[in-house]
Amino acid sequence: MNISNNGNLKLAVQKKGRLTDKSIELLKLCGIDIENYAERLVVSSSSFPLDLLLLRDDDIPEYVQDGVADAGIVGENVIVEKKAKVETLQKLGFGKCKIMLAAPENFRFEILQDINNKTIATSYPNILQTFLDENNLKAKTIEISGSVEIAPALGVADLICDIVSTGTTLMMNKLKKSFTVYESQAVLVCSDLILKDEKKNEILTELLRRIRSVLTARSSKYLMMNVPIDALEKIEKLIPSIKSPTIVPLADPNMVAVHAVIPSDLLWKIVDQLKQEGASGILLLPIENMIL
Ligand code: ATP
Ligand code: ZN
Repeated sequence: MNISNNGNLKLAVQKKGRLTDKSIELLKLCGIDIENYAERLVVSSSSFPLDLLLLRDDDIPEYVQDGVADAGIVGENVIVEKKAKVETLQKLGFGKCKIMLAAPENFRFEILQDINNKTIATSYPNILQTFLDENNLKAKTIEISGSVEIAPALGVADLICDIVSTGTTLMMNKLKKSFTVYESQAVLVCSDLILKDEKKNEILTELLRRIRSVLTARSSKYLMMNVPIDALEKIEKLIPSIKSPTIVPLADPNMVAVHAVIPSDLLWKIVDQLKQEGASGILLLPIENMIL
């Protein structure tokens, strides 16, 4: 069957790079299996009406905008830089990075106005220009597509504006990071054209529902512990998010087991109080999915 009109949702993801494995893993958690995607450009899922298009991340915004792909997973930074007309449906919580201004160590960089009339090398000219305009700054920008960090050493620019992760590359080039220009993460986007296709719309809605379930599950944990019956009321107050925890009787008539879904970070805040109230055998388990 011709892949272009088989009715499957066409989802573009990065072929090979920082977003690839996390995108495939997210789909897997949604029950969408993708096999043998490594050397292929298009691969269909065996468990969901979806074809994956494996592309360079820079090409994804345009493919989605033009409707060649119905949807895509890509960094917000790329969407914004390309000024793509696509709809952002969901932030995905991975691929987080910052686009920052960085200057040579001897550059006096105390306030933003210090970059006025300077030259900035960047691979994100549009994002940088928006930042300059918003802050009423005037600087010259030059676009460089790779190895932006060496521009100051080469004398082509006074400072740079680029994605910063560990800072090691900056240190090697004797640069210091200073101001954050843009914070990005991977997002699910869709084409405006998809609204016209009822069947694809349904598939996309189902995909989005599953993704949201996975993201909610990620931010929650399943707590199990044994507590004295007398302390039950106090313990329930410590965990405000639970409306109705599961209470299971134990062989010891004075004790019960309490099971509840709680926000991932809550346990560490209340663990000492739980123990004080006599809680024991505290287990915190990951949740793979939470159907919303
Ligand atoms: P492609 O060959 O697909 O064009 P690329 O080299 O442009 O790949 P990657 O380096 O794989 O892209 O980064 C993809 C995206 O991952 C970035 O656009 C950004 O959204 C995100 N990202 C997260 N952390 C970082 C980081 N430390 N450095 C670069 N990108 C990062
Ligand atoms: Zn790229």
